Amino acid sequence: MIHVKPKETECPPYNRAMTNWTTKLIHPGVRAPKGFRSLADPTWRGSTVLFPSASAASDNWDQYEAGYTYGLYGTPTTLELASRICELENGYRTIITPGGQSAIALVNLALLHAGDHVLIPESIYGPNRKLAGTLLKRLGVEHSFYEPTIGAGIRELFQPNTRLVWCESPGSITLEIQDVPAIAEAAHARGALVAIDNTWSAGVYFDAFAHGVDITLQALTKYVGGHSDLLLGSVTAREEGTWKLLGAAHQVLGFAASPDDCTLALRGLKTLAVRLRAIEESALHVAHWLAARPEIERVLHPALTSCPGHDIWKRDFTGSSGIFSIVFNEGTEKQEVLNFVDALQLFKIGYSWAGVTSLAVAYDFSRRKGRPPVQHRIVRLNIGLEDSEDLIEDLDQALRSAIHRS
Ligand SMILES: *Cc1c(COP(=O)(O)O)cnc(C)c1O
Repeated sequence: MIHVKPKETECPPYNRAMTNWTTKLIHPGVRAPKGFRSLADPTWRGSTVLFPSASAASDNWDQYEAGYTYGLYGTPTTLELASRICELENGYRTIITPGGQSAIALVNLALLHAGDHVLIPESIYGPNRKLAGTLLKRLGVEHSFYEPTIGAGIRELFQPNTRLVWCESPGSITLEIQDVPAIAEAAHARGALVAIDNTWSAGVYFDAFAHGVDITLQALTKYVGGHSDLLLGSVTAREEGTWKLLGAAHQVLGFAASPDDCTLALRGLKTLAVRLRAIEESALHVAHWLAARPEIERVLHPALTSCPGHDIWKRDFTGSSGIFSIVFNEGTEKQEVLNFVDALQLFKIGYSWAGVTSLAVAYDFSRRKGRPPVQHRIVRLNIGLEDSEDLIEDLDQALRSAIHRS
């Protein structure tokens, strides 16, 4: 008889000392074989983290320093995603949040005190603006809005208590490209920090830290997730001091991210480059086709000269993504614009872009001060991964059926 030496990966023998089955449910005497090596990132779930001894128990959020202490501050899956985002953005460290908006809230609540003032571009993501006008205001933080293409002229807007300047480039819906280096220089001369919402560039087409920014954030919900099936955000600091403020605020706010969603985001990262490349090419093709249409006054796509700040985009960015807007000719009725969106078949109607499905949303700035005078004539498009010729055909039939040419 040949004796085969048990391999290390085999199950240990059943623990006969434990007889009560209810205890076995919680403290099993058996374990799966070790040694699984896979290309997939494991999902580490967990609230409780075990300590080796009574004296080792601590509730320290800084898991890089203290080791793992509690699931709220991230499991190895969360921290794996944080490290990879941080590596791509060339930051000091990254915190993962449950969504892009909580990343925005974290930056504000970590850095601002009652009596501080914050500068926000008119083109900022809507809920960021709303936070300033509601909760921050209630907490005694003042804010004012600035024209997004102001550049170095922002120096006139600083107050003695200005502590933070927000940037978002390109701006939400109207896509203005900001002169971030000029804004950062003015802010630093006044001792203020600069935070940027870098979602449009997926953290890769605009190197925010190389352009003077102190804190970047992304809605990972968008290109990193890439499939419209998760919500996550990231905040990345350039320096340790800012990161410590963010980490301490993250602890008390309790902004825990789901490790399951982090696994999906880690998977999304692996295909980010090919998705972005395909989407960039398709969006450019569609944008150029739209720019030649008689119904359309302007296409707001940073790679087109008709977009405010196009030259700065050429100077500072290394690519473009798949979300841009079209402005219909003056005289186009609101109902025509709505009919256009309704007539689209491949383009669906909905928020949260950067997935594989093309989307269209109509906006109305008629009653919004500080926005370009496009009133109800603006529609934002998200280009997905459908064939661009099919998207053009869809846009063509919707334009023909909904927009009456004068
Ligand atoms: C979607 C979005 C956010 C918010 O992200 P959520 O994950 O939906 O909370 C923030 N900023 C920009 C620019 C966005 O487009």
